[in-house]
Amino acid sequence: MNRRCLIVGSAIQVSDVVKTYPLGADEVVAVDHLDLGIEEGEFVAVVGRSGSGKTTLLNLLAGIDRPTSGSVVAAGADLGSLSESGLAEWRGRNVGLVFQFFQLLPTLTVAENVMLPMDFAAKIPAVRRRDRARELLERVGIGDQADKLPSMLSGGQQQRAAIARALANDPPLLLADEPTGNLDSHTADAVLEVFAGLNAEGRTIVVVTHERDIRAIVKREITLVDGRVVADESVVAR
Ligand code: ADP
Ligand code: MG
Repeated sequence: MNRRCLIVGSAIQVSDVVKTYPLGADEVVAVDHLDLGIEEGEFVAVVGRSGSGKTTLLNLLAGIDRPTSGSVVAAGADLGSLSESGLAEWRGRNVGLVFQFFQLLPTLTVAENVMLPMDFAAKIPAVRRRDRARELLERVGIGDQADKLPSMLSGGQQQRAAIARALANDPPLLLADEPTGNLDSHTADAVLEVFAGLNAEGRTIVVVTHERDIRAIVKREITLVDGRVVADESVVAR
């Protein structure tokens, strides 16, 4: 049975979250009393100008940062109730992260990069990991690059490898911070199509992006200004 069918309720519930950073004697309010619910299977774009709080929000959803106040519930866990090691374990099993600059380890092959999170989380049986890495690389269209070092791949191929790595432990939730920000527009479109395919399989996806035509791909667009949601729109074009 598909495990995702067994999970009920919201994928994400952000309640009255504030995140401030110290700035000299003062502080910057990066996220300002933000409420946000995202259901299982949604495909959401977060847009907004530089400095509007997009990365901060994503880091709060991933449990990389903790809110100054308020609560974040994601993938079945109240993140505030978890210890640092509990958060790391939760993240490893439930969240796939994709970044603008890929962040592949340069000394490991592409397949080894994909296997690494499997080794950390120990969710996938050890005997399955190598084959699974190959399957995931096939899934994102770069099965033939598995044994190369990341530096031998194009930017688009490296981002596909990073997406395969994010899928390593079959997480229900994918979070991507400007995953196309370092790609030409044609390559960016192809990478966004990979996300669309993963969403069609039932994964919940939140993608921070500057792409103008993101509305052709996602189902919902949230706009941030100064750490607040100023627009939250369903996209019907799809
Ligand atoms: P975005 O991703 O939309 O560009 P960020 O979430 O990175 O926005 O930043 C939101 C605000 O918080 C900005 O004013 C930024 O300068 C500030 N900020 C983000 N991270 C830090 C940090 N680690 N220390 C201090 N200020 C930060
Ligand atoms: Mg950012």
